[in-house]
Amino acid sequence: MTTTPFGQSTVLGYPRIGGNRELKKAVEAHWAGRIDAAELERTAARLRSEVWLTLRNADLDAIPSNTFSYYDHVLDTAVAVGAVPERFRRLGLSDLDTYFAMARGVDTEPALELTKWFDTNYHYLVPEIGPETVFAADPAKALQEYAEARALDLRTRPVLVGPATFLLLAKPSTPGYDPFDRLDDLVGAYADLLGALADAGVEWVQLDEPAYVADRVPAEIDALRETYARLGALDRRPQIFVATYFGDLGDALPALLDTPVEALGLDLVAGPGNLRRLAGSGPLRGRTIVAGLVDGHNVWRTDLTAAVTAGAVAYGLADHLAVSTSCSLLHVPVDLSVETYLDPALRERLAFARQKVDEVVLLSRALRDGTAHLPRPLPAPPATWHNTEVRARLAALSPTDRRRSDYPLRAAAQQERLQLPALPTTTIGSFPQTDALRRARAALRAGTLDAPGYDQVIRDEIARVIRFQEELGLDVLVHGEPERNDMVQYFGEQLDGFAATDHGWVQSYGSRCVRPPIIHGDVARRAPMTVAWSTYAQSLTPKPVKGMLTGPVTILAWSFVRTDQPLADTADQVALALRDECHDLEAAGISVIQVDEPALRETLPLRRADQKAYLDWAIDAFRLATSGIADHTQLHTHLCYSEFGEVITAIDALDADVTSIEASRSKMEILQDLQSIGYARGVGPGIWDIHSPRIPTQTELVTALRHAVSAVPAQRLWVNPDCGLKTRTYPEVQSTLKHLTAAATEVRNH
Ligand code: GLN
Ligand code: ZN
Repeated sequence: MTTTPFGQSTVLGYPRIGGNRELKKAVEAHWAGRIDAAELERTAARLRSEVWLTLRNADLDAIPSNTFSYYDHVLDTAVAVGAVPERFRRLGLSDLDTYFAMARGVDTEPALELTKWFDTNYHYLVPEIGPETVFAADPAKALQEYAEARALDLRTRPVLVGPATFLLLAKPSTPGYDPFDRLDDLVGAYADLLGALADAGVEWVQLDEPAYVADRVPAEIDALRETYARLGALDRRPQIFVATYFGDLGDALPALLDTPVEALGLDLVAGPGNLRRLAGSGPLRGRTIVAGLVDGHNVWRTDLTAAVTAGAVAYGLADHLAVSTSCSLLHVPVDLSVETYLDPALRERLAFARQKVDEVVLLSRALRDGTAHLPRPLPAPPATWHNTEVRARLAALSPTDRRRSDYPLRAAAQQERLQLPALPTTTIGSFPQTDALRRARAALRAGTLDAPGYDQVIRDEIARVIRFQEELGLDVLVHGEPERNDMVQYFGEQLDGFAATDHGWVQSYGSRCVRPPIIHGDVARRAPMTVAWSTYAQSLTPKPVKGMLTGPVTILAWSFVRTDQPLADTADQVALALRDECHDLEAAGISVIQVDEPALRETLPLRRADQKAYLDWAIDAFRLATSGIADHTQLHTHLCYSEFGEVITAIDALDADVTSIEASRSKMEILQDLQSIGYARGVGPGIWDIHSPRIPTQTELVTALRHAVSAVPAQRLWVNPDCGLKTRTYPEVQSTLKHLTAAATEVRNH
C-alpha cells in the first residue's frame, strides 16, 4: 500500500449541476430524445473536468472524484456494488437506460423510492436490498472519473457511500427483511472495489458514513468497527478516508479509531461534540483528521477566526490535519460571483461553493502559517435588517397567542358555517401548471407581457380551476396556486428579511433544482400576500375556497437561514407575518385556511436527544401563525411523507382542525398511528399517490376509503389526494378526481 499524505485542504464534494444547470439541461434533453447518450456523456465529462480544474486552480491539494452523478450518488454506489434489482435488470436496457429506469421508472416498473438525504433538501434513491441481491464490484464509473482526472494531471480521491451507511439507507426488497444483514457480503464487494482502485493507482478513497451521526444501536456501531477493520486489513487497497457529516459521531468515533483507517472526517460545524470526543479518544497514531470547518450546508461566510481556533484544537490532537467543508458542497449554490444584483451588504456575508473552497484553503494556510493573511471580520449588519417593531411584538407574546379554543367548540362553529357532508372532498392546493401559464411567466420575464396582462392570465386560470372543481363536485375548493412558482419563494419574495438569488440553484433530486431564498434579517410582512387571489377565487363560487399559506417551519426548511439567532426566533418572526395574513384572509371572508407544513418531518434533528427542542419550537411557531383565527374558521394543515415516526405526536400538537397527509404509499397505517396517540380531529389520508402518473380506479379508491372509515368516523374523514397536483397533467387530474368524488359518494351512501 502506498502512503502518500492526504493533503492539507479538501472538500467532501462539489456541486455537479454546472454553473448554469448544464447537467439538468443535458439530462432532460437526453430523456426527451433530443441528444444521444454520447453527447450527454460529453457534457458530463466537460462538467467534471471543469470542477476539477476549478478546485485545482483554487489551490485545493486533495481533490475528490466520483462525486459527479447523472442523478444521485446513492444510486451510483448501488450500481458500483451491483445492487441493481432484478426488476430493472430484466428490462434488458443499456447501462445508462437501466440507471435512468431505476431513477425514474418505466411504464412497467416504478422507480426506486426517493427520500430525503438526512436533514437536507437533497433526495436520494433508496436501494432495494434483499436476500436475493447479488453484490458484485463494478468500479467502472469510479475508475473512469479517476482516469479522466489523471489525464488532467490530477490524482483524485474517489468517493463512494460507505457500506454501513449504504445498507442503513436501504429498504428491504421483501417486507420484514433487514438489509443490514447483508453487510458481510457487501463488504466483500467493497473489498473488490478497493482492490480495483488500488490496481489503477488510486492512493486515497473516501467512504462516506453519515448514517452514524444519527442514533445507532451498539450492534450497528460494532458492525462499523468490523467493517473498517476488515477493509483496513486488505493488502491491496488505497488508503481509506472515512467521511462523516451532519452532526456528532458519538460512539462511532472511537469505534472508527479502533480500525486501521488512515483518515477520519468530522463535521465541526453541525457536530460541535466531535472535538471533545476526539480529545478523549487517545492517541491518533499517524492518522489524518479531516476537519470540516467550513459549513457545506449553509451559505454564510465562515467566521475564519473562530474556525482557526477550532482547527487549532483539532491540529493539536492529530498528527496530520486537513481542512475541509463540513459536508459536500452539493447543498449550496455554485458561485456567488455571478449574483451581481444582490444587496452588497448581504453579498459580503455570503459564500457559495466556489467561495467556500477559498475559505478552506485560507484556513488551511492560517493554521500552518498564522492568521496574518485572514480577511478582516465583517462589519455589523445594516440597521435596515433589524425590525424593532417585530422584535417588540415577539417580546410581548404570551402563551395564549398560541392557543385556540377547544376543538369541539370550533368543530361545531365550523360545521354550522360550512355545512359539509360526511367524507368531504378537497385537494391539497396546486393544480397542474399549464403551458399557457408557463408561456405567460416567460413573457413576463421577457418583458413582452406587462404585470396587468400577467395578472389577467392568473385570474383566468383561477376562474378555470374553480369551474373545473365545481363540475367535479368537490366540496372544499382551492384556487390552484397558479401565481406561485414555488411555495416558499412566493412568500420569500414578499417578506422583508428575505433575499432571492438569480442563479443560486441547488440540486434537490435528479434534474430538479431549487433556488432557496436567503433569510438574512428580521422578517416582516409589508402587505397582504395572498388575500387578493383567494378572495377573487372565493367570489366565483358559493363553495368554500381554502386560503393557502406555507407554514413557518417549511419556509425555514426550504430557505438558507441566518445563524446569528436561534431558529426558533426566526420561525416566530415568520409566524407573525403568517398570523397577520390569516387575519386578513379571515376578514376578507375566507372560511377555511390551510397552512402547509410538508417539511415538518424533514428538519427533524437526527439525534433523538435534540428532537424535542426542535418540535417544541416548530409547533409553537405553527400555532403562533394559526391561532389568531376565530372558532368558525377551519384550519387545515398538510404534511408530506408517510413515515412520521417521532413526529406523530407533533401532528396532534399542531391543533389543526383538519390534517391532510400523505398516506397512499403507506397503506393508511397513518390512521392507526394517529388513533394510537388520541388524535381526534379531521384527517384526510391521501388516497391518490400524486407522485405517480397512474390513475387509480374508483373501486380502488372505494376500498381505500372503506378501510379508512373503519379507523376514523366519516364525519372527521376527508377525501383528498396525497399532495398538490402541480406535477400532474389535466387529463390525469380530471379522471382521478372524478373517481375520487364518485368514490366518496359511494362510501357515503354505503
Ligand atoms: N399546497 C401545496 C400544493 O398543493 C402543498 C405542496 C406540498 O405539500 N409540498 O402544491
Ligand atoms: Zn404534500
